[in-house]
Amino acid sequence: MTELLSNYLGGRWQAGSGAGATLSDPVLGDALVRVDATGLDLAAGFAFAREQGGAALRAMTYRERAAMLAAIVKILQTNRDAYYEIATANSGTVHNDSAVDIDGGIFTLGTYAKLGDALGERRYLIDGDAARLGKDPLFQSQHVLVPTRGVALLINAFNFPSWGLWEKAAPALLAGVPVIVKPATATAWLTQRMVRDVVDAGVLPPGALSVVCGSAAGLLDQLQPFDVVSFTGSAQTAALIRSHAAVTQRSVRVNIEADSVNSALLLPGEAAGSEAFDLLAKEAAREMTVKSGQKCTAIRRIFVPEALYGAAADAIGARLARVTVGNPRHEAVRMGALVSRAQLASVREGLGYLQAQAEVLHDGATHALVDADPAVACCVGPTLLGARDAHAADRVHDTEVFGPVATLVPYRDNADALALVRRGQGSLVASLYGSDADALAKAAVELADSHGRVHVISPDVAQLHTGHGNVMPQSLHGGPGRAGGGEELGGLRALNFYHRRSAVQASTSVLAQL
Ligand code: NAP
Repeated sequence: MTELLSNYLGGRWQAGSGAGATLSDPVLGDALVRVDATGLDLAAGFAFAREQGGAALRAMTYRERAAMLAAIVKILQTNRDAYYEIATANSGTVHNDSAVDIDGGIFTLGTYAKLGDALGERRYLIDGDAARLGKDPLFQSQHVLVPTRGVALLINAFNFPSWGLWEKAAPALLAGVPVIVKPATATAWLTQRMVRDVVDAGVLPPGALSVVCGSAAGLLDQLQPFDVVSFTGSAQTAALIRSHAAVTQRSVRVNIEADSVNSALLLPGEAAGSEAFDLLAKEAAREMTVKSGQKCTAIRRIFVPEALYGAAADAIGARLARVTVGNPRHEAVRMGALVSRAQLASVREGLGYLQAQAEVLHDGATHALVDADPAVACCVGPTLLGARDAHAADRVHDTEVFGPVATLVPYRDNADALALVRRGQGSLVASLYGSDADALAKAAVELADSHGRVHVISPDVAQLHTGHGNVMPQSLHGGPGRAGGGEELGGLRALNFYHRRSAVQASTSVLAQL
């Protein structure tokens, strides 16, 4: 029997009383550990976090909470090697892909530690200037932002067990709000281990950080009016959360990060082989293969002028052909596994669905697996599809295949390109490639209404840009419409979700005391 991981709730480690779900190695097929949350006293655990954790955090200043985040960074850095081992075993990722999750999470925490330190010795925030409410300037209104008096329930997706935890927990803890994290079952081990290390180090007040591994059953029932829930995952689960009584009747604030059919667009006027063209080809191939395409921000649709369809297919295909796929422990391997057999089946099914409206330009099946048994390993080569009839191929604009799959789409002119990008109905990110600064700026503003982020790559930033799919804590993450309508990160903007805004109307002498 494999080890059963404990849950940390109510200020103590508690094992579930059921048999649990087994987490496995997606390359070797070995059973690794089990998780289970059966029989936990959730009501007591949530109350402990809300009352003990919340009170302790609110008593601290932003600077003190920022120092706490910096202390977490140190603990995680000390244990980094263990996290990489867990990621290799449980997520089947090569070192560079594990880094996106592990070091990405640590970097995000570090960024919030710095931002929080600059907020100084305050316990709440002043929002804007005071405004006169009448003729006499004595009576005015001042908005304040105070930490919400509840818990932040974080429900995360399987693809980022580290970053997904810390990109949400950092602003929550900095805001003074205790966190209960529920990682996706398939990869819960890394989240649980990180929480264990932080709890063992004793750098957080009791109740500030809890972890529940296993089924989500009953978690939402615990939520009370001042709690918040931050969810990352599929649109189907998001719909369940949105319709729960906690949200519909108790006004629990909810943030949703769901799936997204992100775009890359080569602007008109760029020749095949130009710098902008090459930057698009490079980024498209990279985005398709980083974390085996299991990134919510990954490029799914690649738009090029009609005349460049063939050249783009060749350029991206040539890059994909060089990608070695298989066991991440093998030094020649550049792309590891999908997370599970279920995901492998889902990617194959999605590919078949898209292929009814698209041709295969580079076939993932041509990649022989390195040091991995195809009957066991959840590995799949990268596939580039092409939809010559961009308008008729509605599946391409509607379907997120969560793996190393993207579709090349030709467009007629600028207006056609923008209209096709918008058929994604709201995405996390679009990236633009070109050399005309004016045209790039215009396209960026055009697409800003349907994208949380527009990533613009011109030759001058070829070596500097942070990558289409990399979520930087300084910039907004989230997108309108089918992307879930959420907003995360964006520097200190992230703190808004965990604060309550209130208008204090009073004499200027009272307001001066704030
Ligand atoms: P999922 O199946 O929706 O699961 C997400 C989380 O919800 C898991 O922790 C899951 O727990 C939990 N859950 C399942 N049923 C629930 C319920 N009834 N009530 C409350 N929680 C419940 O999604 P996934 O397959 O893990 O993630 C893949 C999807 O996430 C992709 O579509 C991807 O695009 C999206 N994603 C979006 C972002 C973003 O930032 N926008 C980032 C990463 C991923 P169990 O694992 O125990 O079922």
